[in-house]
Amino acid sequence: MKNKTVTIPIRQKRSWAEPYKIKMVEPIHMTTEKERAKCLADAGYNTFLLRSKDVYIDLLTDSGTSAMSDRQWAALMLGDEAYAGSSNFYNLEAAVTKYYGYKYTIPTHQGRGAEHIISQILIKKGDIIPGNMYFTTTRLHQEIAGGTFIDVIIDEAHDPDSTHPFKGNVDIGKMEDVIKKYGASKIPYICVATSVNMAGGQPISIANLKELRKLTQKHGIRIVHDMTRVAENAFFIQQREAGYKSKSIAQIVLEICRLTDIATMSAKKDALVNIGGILAMNDEKLLSEAQNLAVVYEGLHTYGGLAGRDMEAMSVGISESVQDDHIRARIGQVEYLGNHIQASGVPVVLPFGGHGIFLNAKKILEHVPQDNFPAQALTAEIYRDSGVRSMERGIVSSGRDKKTGKNIYPKLELVRLTIPRRVYTQAHMDVVAESVERVYQERKKIKGLKMVYEPEYLRFFQAKFKKL
Ligand SMILES: *Cc1c(COP(=O)(O)O)cnc(C)c1O
Repeated sequence: MKNKTVTIPIRQKRSWAEPYKIKMVEPIHMTTEKERAKCLADAGYNTFLLRSKDVYIDLLTDSGTSAMSDRQWAALMLGDEAYAGSSNFYNLEAAVTKYYGYKYTIPTHQGRGAEHIISQILIKKGDIIPGNMYFTTTRLHQEIAGGTFIDVIIDEAHDPDSTHPFKGNVDIGKMEDVIKKYGASKIPYICVATSVNMAGGQPISIANLKELRKLTQKHGIRIVHDMTRVAENAFFIQQREAGYKSKSIAQIVLEICRLTDIATMSAKKDALVNIGGILAMNDEKLLSEAQNLAVVYEGLHTYGGLAGRDMEAMSVGISESVQDDHIRARIGQVEYLGNHIQASGVPVVLPFGGHGIFLNAKKILEHVPQDNFPAQALTAEIYRDSGVRSMERGIVSSGRDKKTGKNIYPKLELVRLTIPRRVYTQAHMDVVAESVERVYQERKKIKGLKMVYEPEYLRFFQAKFKKL
């Protein structure tokens, strides 16, 4: 071979542009900086307490904020609103089995409904629940059921500068230590999240999941899969893990699910609906217990707190969520924003996650002690600057130690810019990046906050602050 020049196939050169076009628009209310300063003070400097009409670009969360497709809107018209045995339930169950592989499904009002049921069934007082980092509602339901969460994620996940490709991996050594220390009989399951939200949307690899599967099988410990963002995790496996380049997202999603026993899912994220969740499993005995609790807390096991039409839209959403073109554009947009922000020198969590860009508030506001809530203060400042709404993922979200009552000081003090699926354009992302850059340049003026109201549970949702 003489000619050694490598030509990049044209397909790889193309941008991530959206595989859809816009059919309907929703006008946004524009505000002035003065108006926003007042809105902020009224909201106690907590972006959760802002009214959505006062927000320009809403990156608070990717939860329930997706734009549904025309097929999903059409599915809403096919609602079979029977109390029992709605055809929409059977369609949903079939979609879950087809795309996720689990045999049985119980719909729930959202993800935490499923977490509640599974925690109540499997956890006894004094049990230990290891997990690859915690999620707020997941950990709370484990604690309410009498369990104690133990973090077994790899150390790299706590280091915002580590560029490990799979920061969502379980540290198998840590897991072995937990089993040795407490005994397998005290560990009903390990909770494994795909695309670990609290670590910045970081993926777990198939290789790690296989290793974990081997270990847990040996000890009779179940794997409960928090599959809220499983499709985004599959994309990173396709891009980064050896042997998965030519596999489709749908194939990888199925392979992940097959390595686990039970799944809880907030369908408000990857599954592209505005409300809903599922509890899915393969074990028939467990199913009847779960169905029984569903009746108490959610609704009959064939609707679980959802309208028939919601279940139908979810079935369609699940099928759309595992399409390669969809996920490529979804994560392409997140990367676009990340690259733009990083180019202006702002410290961000690397590699970029699947559902958003996480700003390293600890580094950006080095002069603000963690007791003065640097990430919370940064979310307030970004909103004041541009009307972009983000959220805190740091000391406020971590809450207090349930035994000592003291603040938990997490290593990560982050601001999350979470991107709703199929909602905003590239120009919106430009505005976000410009605002983050401006706030970064003026960072020395930010003094931090003090908390003036603190609710008992999940305080980040409702806490109020004052400027120092
Ligand atoms: C959102 C979320 C949940 C909880 O789901 P809800 O639908 O908000 O109740 C659980 N786990 C993860 C990883 C999530 O992102």
